[in-house]
Amino acid sequence: MKKQIKIAKSSGFCFGVKRAIELAEQIVSKNNKVYTFGPLIHNPQEVDRLEQENIKVIDDYSKIKNGVLVLRTHGIPLNIYDKLAKKKNLKILDATCPFVKRAQDIVKKLSDESEQIVIIGERTHPEVVALVSYGKGKCIVVEDMCDVKNVKKTDIIYVVSQTTQSPKKFKEIVNKISKISKIKIYNTICKATYDRQSAAEKLANKVDVMIVIGGKNSGNTRRLYQICSKITKTHHIENVDEIKGIWFKNKNIFGITAGASTPSWIISNVKRRMKEVLEIVNKKNKEKQK
Ligand code: SF4
Repeated sequence: MKKQIKIAKSSGFCFGVKRAIELAEQIVSKNNKVYTFGPLIHNPQEVDRLEQENIKVIDDYSKIKNGVLVLRTHGIPLNIYDKLAKKKNLKILDATCPFVKRAQDIVKKLSDESEQIVIIGERTHPEVVALVSYGKGKCIVVEDMCDVKNVKKTDIIYVVSQTTQSPKKFKEIVNKISKISKIKIYNTICKATYDRQSAAEKLANKVDVMIVIGGKNSGNTRRLYQICSKITKTHHIENVDEIKGIWFKNKNIFGITAGASTPSWIISNVKRRMKEVLEIVNKKNKEKQK
């Protein structure tokens, strides 16, 4: 059987990531002091490329006094935003994804009218850390089923999601919470997440091996890996150098997907390398059959 590669229908850069990179690139063409507060997106290779364009990552905002500070797609905690806004010579360029912003606005509004807001997501992920900061101390983060025990019985429990949460996991946790009290759900999972996860799941069912490309620090890429690895043999790589020839042995159909923060140039490099390896293997097989 001829070996072949299939690409997931929806993969790679999403709207929010594209927008953040475009905003940062536009501003650096007009200003020579451009910083991002933490990595702009969760992809180390793309962040390195932006550094070469003079868009520098800083972790300690107290060290910069002037220039432009670009806020990352995941958003930043409210108290830090307020401190930054007071720096007179620092221009803030907010590249928080509008879908993340929507989730922040919901948490902020709920914090005025509710006792308890449950956020389903990864506790230490920057997006969740920022979301919690909008909740005036009323947020409880539920990362897994075992955290549901921390949810208190109140008249009504409000539930919000990390934008890149797995819809399946979100539904399972919501079902469990609904047994505690009446709940009101704000499903803030973004469409890019739905599309990438369902395309990856469909493809994983049709192939022998899946390759998931994206930052090891990228939550949405890790979830693509988790989804695919439950279905078929899956490898998570950040770049082309991690591909191993052994993965192609005795396998015929290979699938590729990529997280929402994976640039097209990395995906192209991986496709090219995989094609080269497969051509060699197909050629060898043909010779054996002669
Ligand atoms: S994954 Fe969704 S929420 Fe996150 S940056 Fe992309 S579009 Fe925005």
